[in-house]
Amino acid sequence: MDELIRNLLALQNLEFGGQETDDTAAQVAELRGKIPPPVLGHYDRLRVRGKKGLAVVNNQVCSGCHMRLPLAVIMTLRHGQDLQLCDNCGRYLYLPDETPGVPTGEEPKPKPVRSPRRKKKSLAPPDDLKLTASPPAPLQIQIQPRLSPE
Ligand SMILES: [Zn+2]
Repeated sequence: MDELIRNLLALQNLEFGGQETDDTAAQVAELRGKIPPPVLGHYDRLRVRGKKGLAVVNNQVCSGCHMRLPLAVIMTLRHGQDLQLCDNCGRYLYLPDETPGVPTGEEPKPKPVRSPRRKKKSLAPPDDLKLTASPPAPLQIQIQPRLSPE
């Protein structure tokens, strides 16, 4: 996941977590320092209205407004190239971590499972029982004495 989105998400989890301690305040301040002001500004505009600034994408659907997102948005998110806003609700979109990567068309092939059992002893005759017989002798060609007609 993109670091910016990760920071935003961490910030959102802290601010919407409902547990404000000195510790979280420090973390919030640190995260806010890492996030560019325009992004933070947009996030805050949503936050003051009680809305979360980020929405996870599930099955190509924005979890904030349940609108289907264009595939181009999903692809950009997958590549982690840029922040993407939902056209409909204006939230920053992110993909859940467990989303598999872009299909490459090259699925890992499962390795053939070898039987844990030991191989049975071969029932074939051992090698030293090779056939020693000489090849069959050529047939004796019986030459018929030519009976020359007299
Ligand atoms: Zn949305």
